[in-house]
Amino acid sequence: MALDHQPSARIPTGVSHTGPTWIEEPSIIARCYMDDVVAINSPPLCPSARPEMEGSVLFGVVGGTAEEPRLAYLTEPHPVTDELLALSGPVTPTEVFRFAAPCAENACQHFDGSTCRLAARTARLLPPVVEVLPPCRLRPTCRWWRQEGRAACVRCPQIVTDNYHPSADIERAADPEWVINAP
Ligand code: SF4
Repeated sequence: MALDHQPSARIPTGVSHTGPTWIEEPSIIARCYMDDVVAINSPPLCPSARPEMEGSVLFGVVGGTAEEPRLAYLTEPHPVTDELLALSGPVTPTEVFRFAAPCAENACQHFDGSTCRLAARTARLLPPVVEVLPPCRLRPTCRWWRQEGRAACVRCPQIVTDNYHPSADIERAADPEWVINAP
């Protein structure tokens, strides 16, 4: 979502729109694309989901090295299909792809009833690996972004869903028993 300060006009309720649109809020004037407006009001997506989860989409491909993986973000998320999953061979899809799906909330071991503790541990225990926000199309709907903001995004590219070469920091961040103090 691009934000800048420009003249504005309200969007009438119920009007469909596909292009750039000016919206006005009491305290902010923002230029948004309608897709992003819809996304902001959507249920959050988990950016560390598994492909078998309902509504799962592929949004990134793992590059870099085994010791220093770095996610390449797709320009558009792709629905999960058998053909797509087969492209990961000979390794499993979760070793080389990142998937997003609606947050399972209380069905997930990382959810504490109000927040995602995996996102919190990621933002506090892992080192940043990029200096600017990754070009991630998931952002308006991402639970990690909504909860932790930039701190999650600058650490996100090192996350591999099934990582067989985890650093000590990654192991701690993935451990649901690891308790971190509130900021
Ligand atoms: S880069 Fe940020 S918005 Fe995108 S999946 Fe990672 S945490 Fe979410």
